[in-house]
Amino acid sequence: MQVSGELLLTLQEVDQRLAAKRQELDQLNEQIEAQAEIPVLTERAEQEQENAIERRGNLARLETDADALRERVEELEERIYGGGVTNLRELAAVEEEQAIARRELMQAEESLGPARLAAEDAERAREELTVTLGEREKTWAESAPKLRRQARTAQSNVKVLEAERAESAQNVPAGELVLYDQLLFRRRGVAIARVERGVCLACHITLPLKEASRLRRGDALVTCGNCGRILIPS
Ligand SMILES: [Zn+2]
Repeated sequence: MQVSGELLLTLQEVDQRLAAKRQELDQLNEQIEAQAEIPVLTERAEQEQENAIERRGNLARLETDADALRERVEELEERIYGGGVTNLRELAAVEEEQAIARRELMQAEESLGPARLAAEDAERAREELTVTLGEREKTWAESAPKLRRQARTAQSNVKVLEAERAESAQNVPAGELVLYDQLLFRRRGVAIARVERGVCLACHITLPLKEASRLRRGDALVTCGNCGRILIPS
């Protein structure tokens, strides 16, 4: 097997640049995709708006009902205490009616508090969402053209680097390339390690003498017994 340490180093250097550029492109795309959230927020803002209107309407209805009942109670009280009703049976009927109206008024007044709170909560939720949505839309409007431009540039840089990678890889013997690709994946982008004074500079383990002399001879590919990386002499 022909040793191709320098070729592999070149390949690794291209691969590292390619990985960095792909990561940059992924991040840009993530930022662009995150804007898909705006229509979702818009829809939620519309729902909150409807909810706030409904709660406000409900509160207004309850207030009108309570006002009407209050008037009714007052009117009935006037009839009871005003002396206009002299017939006892009629008086009893009016008192009965007044008692019913009072009970209804109490119930109506009890439901006013929760309805008022619900209306306030709905209004607050609507306001908050409107502010959030406004901020997102503004940020997006400001950053969208730049992000799209950056993503297009990164995309074409990736293409160029992929071509460069393919060119570098074709000079490396197939068996070594397979090993290199596996290591690149397993060792997170660093498949090659230099050796200095018999020590693997990636994991700092001293090579056995036999391995060190094989590496010096340079007639075979030597890997580190500890970290598994392809070794090349300094
Ligand atoms: Zn090592």
